[in-house]
Amino acid sequence: MTKVPFAPPRMDQKIIDEVVATLNSGWITTGPRTSLLEEKLSEYTGAKEVTCLGSATAGMELVLRWFGIGPGDEVIVPVYTYCATGNVVLHCGAKVVFCDVADDFNIDVSIIESLITNNTKVIMPVDIGGLPCDYSQIMSLVNQNHVMAKFNATSPEQKSLGRILVLADAAHSVGARYGGKMSACLADVSTLSFHAVKNLITAEGGAVCLNLPEPFNNESIGKGLKCSSLHGQSKDALAKTKAGGWKYDVLYPGYKCNMTDLQAAIGLVELARYDDDMLVKRHHIFKSYEAGLSQYSWAQCPVFETDNKVSSFHVYMLRIRGISEEQRDTMMIKIAEQEVAVNVHFQPLPLLTAYKNLGHDIMDYPSAYDQYSREITLPVFYDISDEQIQTVIDAIVMAYESLNL
Ligand SMILES: *Cc1c(COP(=O)(O)O)cnc(C)c1O
Repeated sequence: MTKVPFAPPRMDQKIIDEVVATLNSGWITTGPRTSLLEEKLSEYTGAKEVTCLGSATAGMELVLRWFGIGPGDEVIVPVYTYCATGNVVLHCGAKVVFCDVADDFNIDVSIIESLITNNTKVIMPVDIGGLPCDYSQIMSLVNQNHVMAKFNATSPEQKSLGRILVLADAAHSVGARYGGKMSACLADVSTLSFHAVKNLITAEGGAVCLNLPEPFNNESIGKGLKCSSLHGQSKDALAKTKAGGWKYDVLYPGYKCNMTDLQAAIGLVELARYDDDMLVKRHHIFKSYEAGLSQYSWAQCPVFETDNKVSSFHVYMLRIRGISEEQRDTMMIKIAEQEVAVNVHFQPLPLLTAYKNLGHDIMDYPSAYDQYSREITLPVFYDISDEQIQTVIDAIVMAYESLNL
């Protein structure tokens, strides 16, 4: 048995009871609980419209397709992210243009402008670890006259927006704050993930949070996304059960990536206790790691609170100063030997075969490589005890000392 697992989901009687109640309710697929979760998420985040789906990945892809992204288009993606952010761009047949990251692991805003061409349609910032990107700078960049002048709209939605769309991959940052606003409200569109290792879980699941400016109608776009998640069917399964409701149309060949009420049931329980319980616990874990590790000059602890940002404390991304990738890998083995589960978040995408094969080269992203090569992600989960936190800290110190630097 591992002494400290990495990120087991919180599971308790309350969740089990709500899932059982859903099973007994006679309605297990997309229905009343999914709608309620959308309402509660909109209340919680302040997003104008929330559509729940089968995953964050599906949400990002539906949004790109809604915006008319296809061959010839370019989408700017930070090189330091999970493959989902890049994969959805490739699914649409568009080109991924990678941007290097800053010292906080997030997209380096000072580089973005140099990557914008006449084909740039979307920027997808990722809130790595839960710390929001510099959205005020990104939004002001895409709204600058000379940047807007370059924008070459090729779909009705692109014409209506008249500029680059900012689609935030907020998979990590549910509940994070930036300048008094919540994550999910910081970009035109934000996607959240409720995958089992994330902060707010539904086993698998995600949401699209819409905050598009005039003249867009966020509510009808949200309904359109839901329709896209159900084959383009004009009525969902619940609407069809109403008297005389059997007849439906298929408006276009949509996808199949809806959220089920069984998933929503878990999310509803977790969301109700998210701020006052889950985030409080995660903050405590982050503070404890910092208190235990910051005394060592070799430990570079992650930033999770600044003047205007508060993280959602999703993953604790420790860096070790002055070590090589090989030395980091040796530390990973030493830590594992002490039965502590750690990880590396993330392998920058050019390190992965799918992206190497497209010609991307990690040497072009020196900051991302530097962060990655010295990074070790520590366990953060609701049920971790203070004793386990100390076990993790001791394991890291021992692993570092074994390098004999
Ligand atoms: C988990 C994750 C996703 C994908 O979320 P799913 O709900 O599993 O599709 C996207 N981006 C990042 C940065 C992630 O960590």
